[in-house]
Amino acid sequence: MARYKHYDYNQTKMIPLRFADQIQPGTFEYTLSHVVDNDLDLTPFESRYCNDYNGAPAYDPAILLKIVLFAYSRGITSSRKIAQACRENVLFMALSADSQPHHSTIADFVSRMEDVIAPLFTQVLMVCDGMGLIGREMFAIDGCKLPSNASKEWSGTRAELTRKQHKIDGAVERMLATHQAQDQQLEPEVQQKQVQQIEKLERVSAKIKKHLATEPERLGRRGKPIKSNITDPDSAKMKTAKGVIQGYNGIAAVDSKHQVIVHAQAYGAGQEQHTLSPMLFGIRRQFRALPESDPFILRKARITADSGFHSEANMKLIYRLGIDGYIADNQFRKRDPRFIDSTTYNQQQAKRRKERGSQFKRFTPADFDYDPVSQSCRCPAGKPMWLSLKGPVAGREVNRFQGYRKQCRVCPLKARCLRNPNQQEGRQVSFYPNDKQAKASYIDKMKEKIDSPMGRHLYSERLGTVEPVFGNINTNKGLKRFTLRGEDKVNAQWLMYCLVHNIEKIATQG
Ligand code: SF4
Repeated sequence: MARYKHYDYNQTKMIPLRFADQIQPGTFEYTLSHVVDNDLDLTPFESRYCNDYNGAPAYDPAILLKIVLFAYSRGITSSRKIAQACRENVLFMALSADSQPHHSTIADFVSRMEDVIAPLFTQVLMVCDGMGLIGREMFAIDGCKLPSNASKEWSGTRAELTRKQHKIDGAVERMLATHQAQDQQLEPEVQQKQVQQIEKLERVSAKIKKHLATEPERLGRRGKPIKSNITDPDSAKMKTAKGVIQGYNGIAAVDSKHQVIVHAQAYGAGQEQHTLSPMLFGIRRQFRALPESDPFILRKARITADSGFHSEANMKLIYRLGIDGYIADNQFRKRDPRFIDSTTYNQQQAKRRKERGSQFKRFTPADFDYDPVSQSCRCPAGKPMWLSLKGPVAGREVNRFQGYRKQCRVCPLKARCLRNPNQQEGRQVSFYPNDKQAKASYIDKMKEKIDSPMGRHLYSERLGTVEPVFGNINTNKGLKRFTLRGEDKVNAQWLMYCLVHNIEKIATQG
């Protein structure tokens, strides 16, 4: 018969534990503890407490900050799990000096970080700069879309939400009528289930009603109504590579030397164009605050960003501020001879286009002979067109021409020219003379710059600078979704993750 080593669950063993010895130099927790104790000004936290003479002593904000940032570095965002780790994990015990804060204390501390996180981020940046971790040569700006603590099912414009609420109210009425009619015949269990379902729908309807009564209509940049979310009105529905999500876009500007994040901000919008200007001014603010202040950083360092940040207004801003910027446009890859055989674009669409053949491609304004001097236009069939509109439309100068009806009806090219070959009206085509000049001055300048061999080389540094940072935050640090609600709170959580990333840089590169 086999013999096994003896064991006894009832034995007692004393394990001597010195918390200071658990935090070993060279580790992330050691750097975190050192930075929080020596480099951060935690006096802003004092305004939260008024227990100078009365009440119980509060947990030291240094302790709470250490355990929250350490938990984030281990992919733990739940305050209950952080509190549990402080009871069970020796590193958490050491960082918290075994003070074991309650999960509600941790949750309250995290949810109020929005007021104090920005100065803390700058102070950590000062430490990075003091150690020479910031090269100040190139900053790559990019965004990382992450789901929020809200469901996309509860998004909609005011009109859509009102329709939804009426639909739910109608369903409740129908269910109540059916329930009353069949009241005596149904089993008690089925009856109870129906009642629960009705109550649930009534709660949902009340939630939508409350949202419509308390929240103003959310307007887009052009003043048009856009979708709002009932649970988190600041979050937005946005397209990502993995489908549509309800979330926030965490934008970060990363220095190329050691991938230190120099500025970060979360936005409740899928579009990135409007975030370039606040990011640029944010970088300048951060560098003004550093001991080795540099108010002209934007003129000295290069800025790179992908096509999400490309717009006419942004190109104008880049040139107006005298920035050495490299912002790709949507066609950048297609113009690059190295990607001529690339299959990264939508293959199906390309295949369909090929199958259809170029003969079915509709004529674009470029196919028409427009003469801006004589204000005349000839169509691809060589027929003259008449000037149907000349003047501003929605603030843009436009010259609109139209084909003669009798010519278009019998034209052999009408299949490629008219939207509908049987339409009564002749083809319309618009030209925007002033727009063309403006675009040529900024967008074309940027295209010329980024398409040059040096421009391509400098732009290629963007990918290796900013993408590993998002990889670290999303995969290694486990930020898969924001757990707080509201743009300010989500921004605080995004900055805390960026803070963890920068402290890790101090630990590994400093
Ligand atoms: S459809 Fe009319 S506008 Fe178009 S090419 Fe023919 S004649 Fe010209």
